[in-house]
Amino acid sequence: MKVTDHIAQAKDTLISFEVLPPLKGKGIEALYKHLDPLMEFKPSFINVTYHRSEHVFKKTADGNFQKVVIRKRPGTESICAAIMNKYNVDTVPHLICGGFSINDTEDALINLRYLGIDNVLVLRGDAAKNETAFEPEPGGHKYASDLLKQVANLNAGIYLEDELKGTHKTEFCIGVAGYPEKHFEAPNMDTDLQYLKAKVEAGADYIITQMFFDNAKFFAFEKACRDIGITVPIIPGLKPIYTRKQLTVLPKTFSIELPSDLSTAVMQCKSDEDVEKVGTEWLLNQSRELKKAGVPVLHYYTLGRPLMVAEVVKGLL
Ligand code: FAD
Repeated sequence: MKVTDHIAQAKDTLISFEVLPPLKGKGIEALYKHLDPLMEFKPSFINVTYHRSEHVFKKTADGNFQKVVIRKRPGTESICAAIMNKYNVDTVPHLICGGFSINDTEDALINLRYLGIDNVLVLRGDAAKNETAFEPEPGGHKYASDLLKQVANLNAGIYLEDELKGTHKTEFCIGVAGYPEKHFEAPNMDTDLQYLKAKVEAGADYIITQMFFDNAKFFAFEKACRDIGITVPIIPGLKPIYTRKQLTVLPKTFSIELPSDLSTAVMQCKSDEDVEKVGTEWLLNQSRELKKAGVPVLHYYTLGRPLMVAEVVKGLL
C-alpha cells in the first residue's frame, strides 16, 4: 500500500521506522532482531536506506596501494522484500542518483515492481567518499528532481526505449527529502524551498525531513512550505541522542543544530546510560508535541537504537 494511502486512511498520527541494510558479511537475522521489538507498534511502513559503493585504498604485499571498490551495505531492494514477507508491512526503499545510470535506475524500478513494492524515497545521495562534491554517474541524474521525473515517467508507462508498445504503468508513491535547517549546499533557505517545490511539482507525493531536535524549526519549515504552495504531507524525521559524541558528529555530518538545552543536559551526564535517558525524554517530548500538532506520521531513524525508539513510541500510547 502507498504511504499516501496510509496517511489518507489514518485517524491519528502514524508511526514509521527507518533501518539500514546489514553490513556486508552479516546475516539478515541481526536486522530482524533490530525490528522485532518495534513491530508491536504496527508501523505503517519501514524505510530501508541505500548505500552506494566507495573507493578505498588497500595496501598490497609489496607496500603499494591499490584502489578498490567496496560496498559496505548492499541489498536494499531484497531487504525490503524480506521485511514485507516476514512482517507483512509496507516498505520504502531509498533510491539515489549516485552510482546509477538511467538504465540502472530503470532496471532497479522494474525489479521493485516485480517485488510488489509500491513506494520509493527518491534522493540524490551525497558525494562519494573520494569526491569533494556530488558527481553523477555518466548518463545518470544530477538532482533528485531528475530521478523523480524518471519514476514519474515510468508511472505514466514511459520507458527509456520508446519503441516499447503497450507498456505497464508502474504506480510508485514517491517521497522526497526536505531540510528544516536547509540542505548544506543550498545558498539560502528560499532557494532550497524552491527546489523542494520543484520536486513536488515533478510528482513527489510527500516529504520526509532530515532529522531535527528543535520542533520550532520543523514548524517554521512546514509553514514556509505551505506559504509557497507545497500542499503534500510533510513527515518529520526523528532520531534519538544516545552518546555525547553525537553532539559534535550530528552537526558536522548533517548540517543541523542541537538546541542548547539538549547539549547542556547531555554534557552534564555522567554515563552513557544517563545520555540515553536524556535522549529518550527529549525524543518523547518532541514526539508528543509533533503528534499534538497533527503531523501525519512520526518517522524514526532507529539506527542501532531500536529499544530507545520502542520506549518513546510506548510513551506516546
Ligand atoms: P536534491 O533535492 O537533489 O538537492 C541537493 C541540493 O541541490 C540542494 O542543496 C538543493 O537545494 C539543490 N538543488 C536541487 N535541485 C536543483 C537544481 N535543479 N539546480 C540547482 N540546485 C538544485 N543518502 C543516501 O545516500 N542514501 C539514503 O538512503 C539516504 N536517505 C535519506 C533520507 C532522508 C529522509 C534524508 C533527508 C536524506 C537522505 N540521504 C540519503 C541523504 C541525501 O542523499 C543527501 O542529503 C543529499 O546531499 C541530498 O539529497 P536530496 O535528495 O535532498 O537532493
